[in-house]
Amino acid sequence: MTTIHDIYQAQRSYFASGATRPFAFRKTKLKELRKAIKRHEDAILAALHTDMRKSPVEAYGSEIGLLYEEIDHTLTNLRQWMRPKPVSSPLMHYPSGSVIYREPKGLTLLIGPWNYPFQLLINPLIGAIAAGNTAILKPSELAPATEAVIQRVIADVFEPQFVAVVTGEGHLVIPELMKHRFDHVFFTGSIPVGKKILEMAAPHLSPVTLELGGKSPCIVDEKADLKTAARRIIWGKCWNAGQTCISPDYVLAHQKIMNPLLEHMKAAIHQFFGENVADSPDYPRLINEKRFDQVASYLSQGSVYTGGETSRADKFIAPTLLTDVSFDAPVMKEEIFGPVLPVIPYKSTEDAIRMIAENPYPLALYIFSKSRKTEQAFIEKVAFGGGCINNTLVHFANAELPFGGIGYSGMGRYHGRNSFYEFTHEKGVLKTGTWLDVPMKYAPFGNKLKLLKM
Ligand code: NAD
Repeated sequence: MTTIHDIYQAQRSYFASGATRPFAFRKTKLKELRKAIKRHEDAILAALHTDMRKSPVEAYGSEIGLLYEEIDHTLTNLRQWMRPKPVSSPLMHYPSGSVIYREPKGLTLLIGPWNYPFQLLINPLIGAIAAGNTAILKPSELAPATEAVIQRVIADVFEPQFVAVVTGEGHLVIPELMKHRFDHVFFTGSIPVGKKILEMAAPHLSPVTLELGGKSPCIVDEKADLKTAARRIIWGKCWNAGQTCISPDYVLAHQKIMNPLLEHMKAAIHQFFGENVADSPDYPRLINEKRFDQVASYLSQGSVYTGGETSRADKFIAPTLLTDVSFDAPVMKEEIFGPVLPVIPYKSTEDAIRMIAENPYPLALYIFSKSRKTEQAFIEKVAFGGGCINNTLVHFANAELPFGGIGYSGMGRYHGRNSFYEFTHEKGVLKTGTWLDVPMKYAPFGNKLKLLKM
């Protein structure tokens, strides 16, 4: 199979054959996928190091371990998720029973970004397989070593009629793919490309999941445990050198604790990566010179509290805390997607909520506080995708929680049961017995209105 059209046609026929639907098939394929990832573990870790200098510990935790957990969770629960669900029926339609069936959608197209290039493509694949679909995977061309390893892993375990990988530059390959009708398109990437994906899906009315980005705020109130907050914020910000869709984009620090918080964050950076961060084997690099230039341009848009060191040749930017930042500066208008962290003081919860509204619909939101009232104020008054209280990033790693954005940060949700839901169609069926045919709905209606109104 050489052309996109050939792969598409082969998947259409394969799906139509019903081969992907049985529980046993889905279970076997998920187990095979797990084994294939295991076989290629070293190659995956090496590719992620080549593309972004991710340390093996970080790469394993965020790109491999998470997938094993997702597969295991799915295998444990799949039979129950697949079970048709009986629901009640209105008396009006007696004698009836109603059932919801979860049907595979069909052919899925999964499009991945470069920042977690393995995990963010294979994670939705787990959902697509669990739901009984076929899949075409389009990895990001900007992480070429991982793109190559994805091709090897998938070719090792699946026939292209079931799961295939198509590579190339996104702006060329994806329009070509989306000339065909997919039964679901799952896209992870930037907001501008997300809009293009929606436009390309529109003529076919293909359902689309968009996992996008945005500016995720991190609020630290005056009663928070500052040392722990600092460590967890710096951990989340430096994970993949800030190139994480749910990275704490900026910190809103209550004015009373801003200075001690800055000191604790500075101490955490040095504790994690030493005095010379560039020498740390645990600190990743930016993906390419273009992203380096973009992130480096933010360094002059405030006062550098700590950090600021760069090397273009090495695509290195030190973790940098930025103060005296204006909300009008590009660093507060654009998703930073790098290791630069503006820290901005606020006076009251209402003040912080108003500041967050400058960049509405963040993908994530983090609250560091000991006050339940403060937690609830942010949860109830701010629209955000998901988040943590007294932590960062880790809500992504709980398969029981739906993961996804709202508004500009995306549409749809996945992980665990939610992936299964996203990739299936809920088919509602009402079945009526024939032993009784209640004449209520049939003409002549006569004075039936009186009975209806009772
Ligand atoms: P991107 O939108 O540039 O690329 C994503 C995919 O789209 C790639 O496979 C690429 O080949 C393809 N593509 C690029 N240009 C295209 C075009 N013109 N037409 C069609 N397809 C095209 O995103 P990226 O730079 O790889 O990733 C970074 C962005 O992704 C950030 O905004 C980040 O917040 C977001 N992101 C979101 C999540 C999430 O789970 N919500 C996770 C990771 C990244």
